[in-house]
Amino acid sequence: MTESSAPRSRAEKLLPPQVQEELRQAFAVLPHDIPLLLFTGPAQAPEEIETARDLAAAFQLVTDKIKFREHSLDSPEAAKWGVTTAPVFVFAPERYSIRYLGVPLGEEGRTLVETLILIGLGQSRLKPQTLKVLEKIDSPRQVMVFVSPTCPYCPQQAVNAVKAAIARPGLISVDIVDTGFNADLADRYAAYSVPQTFADDILIAKGAQPEELFAASLEQMEEAAYFIPEQDAPRVETDLVIVGGGPAGLTAAIYAARSGLKAVIIERDQLGGQVATTPVVENYPGLARIGGKNLVDIMAAHALEYVDIFLREEVREIRTGDPIEITTSLRTFTARAVLLATGAVHRKLDAPGEERFAGRGVSYCSTCDGPLFKGKKVAVAGGGNSAVTEALHLRHLGVDVTLIHRRDALRAQEHLVHDLEQAGIPVLWNTEIREIRGHEKMEELVLHDKQAGRTETRPFDGLFVSIGYQPQTGLARELGLEITGDGYIRHDELHRTSLPGVYSAGDVEGGYKQIVTAAGAGAAAAMTIFEDLTHPYWKDRQA
Ligand code: NAP
Repeated sequence: MTESSAPRSRAEKLLPPQVQEELRQAFAVLPHDIPLLLFTGPAQAPEEIETARDLAAAFQLVTDKIKFREHSLDSPEAAKWGVTTAPVFVFAPERYSIRYLGVPLGEEGRTLVETLILIGLGQSRLKPQTLKVLEKIDSPRQVMVFVSPTCPYCPQQAVNAVKAAIARPGLISVDIVDTGFNADLADRYAAYSVPQTFADDILIAKGAQPEELFAASLEQMEEAAYFIPEQDAPRVETDLVIVGGGPAGLTAAIYAARSGLKAVIIERDQLGGQVATTPVVENYPGLARIGGKNLVDIMAAHALEYVDIFLREEVREIRTGDPIEITTSLRTFTARAVLLATGAVHRKLDAPGEERFAGRGVSYCSTCDGPLFKGKKVAVAGGGNSAVTEALHLRHLGVDVTLIHRRDALRAQEHLVHDLEQAGIPVLWNTEIREIRGHEKMEELVLHDKQAGRTETRPFDGLFVSIGYQPQTGLARELGLEITGDGYIRHDELHRTSLPGVYSAGDVEGGYKQIVTAAGAGAAAAMTIFEDLTHPYWKDRQA
């Protein structure tokens, strides 16, 4: 163990006098000591070691709060703190788990300064909303941020990680990996652009993020495209409440807000509705081929520029009147209009065994569950666009897939049928699934060939049910809205329902059930609502 002995002049070169003075003032008010350990190793170039020492010495010139120690890689301290490479800086290891793998020079000087100050402060300085997200994390996360000294965006992401480690010590540990010093590690993670952030070896962000998105990505263990702050208000007053955050609801929100209305979206589950679980979308204008989740992320981020979204909140009751009162599981909203954009849910086969083996072989979402069936034999039930899209997606994932259709012709679009044939996916025509059998998990299907009048059992590891959707009209029915014979909300061409002040848009209305038509209906409904709230047609009727 050695104390820093780098000559003062070299250390001073790293921090010009004016910067020294600013840092002196910043460090003077910090309440805590800042233990800083440098680990050096025999394989390291002597000039690297000198630079690392100079850097530590430079900061000791401006504050006596930094308690610096240098250790070699074969020291007991290296074993104690799990350091196996050099050079590595370790910050206050008794309190936090924060390391810098390399020497923080160039742009990374900012990461070093901020890290030292935050540790001296003993606080993360994160916004309350960000802390709330981090508080949801209940299992350890090992974060790695790959950076380089020439990358101006890297310190933002590195400091996000440092702040998270300070906010949740014991749970979040952080390695900031300087790619210049750790080319092997960067190679192993294929981190060929910086910054890149991994948590428990999973890529959770490419590029620098605002702190809220960083926290959301860390919590969800995937890159978050938007951040929805939690809302505490027990009562919310607004012009328009949109129930449902699919393409119709999200588009309506954008149009309503841009017309000057105050609008909110309430979504009980996840944003995007069915699109969020659609593997690939190829017919949304302007985006030739995009993952459904990506499209939803783009739409949601756009809507969030205009409106508040209340996520995982279920509407319990809607009481019409002036204003309309909407009670959810968490609060009450008052509004002048309500738009029901509640979409549709997966239709079930209603075959024996379907419920028992749901999640144990039977699935309704190939995007979610498809990868679990790689190399296995799986059936897809249905003959429409969804079934063919899912079958193609599963084949792409390396699943041995068979389509099972109850008729002798598909109703999917021509180009999807062509792709299905090209992929050589076998189809069992005129076949009904009579039963799903198995023990712990599903093992076989009882199939009835209607043409041959024959029933047989075939082994399958999985079944993806893709036979259409049922409109979610529960709230509409409770409100007493008129429902069509097919089970959709009855509405006029302007999306007005049978009750003044209540509107509908999207799949809950029936029709073509395309993303673009749902979005179109949302836009049209929002414009009608704006017109109606400005010139209420029901008042004309009463006059
Ligand atoms: P869909 O078009 O209504 O097709 C449902 C399929 O499931 C039909 O082939 C139907 O058979 C079959 N089916 C229904 N009930 C069944 C049962 N009890 N047992 C066995 N088979 C049954 O539904 P979808 O494919 O989910 O599509 C829903 C909507 O979204 C459609 O409007 C579709 O165009 C749209 N969509 C579009 C795209 C796209 O444009 N790329 C992608 C996905 C979905 P029959 O043919 O015998 O009725």
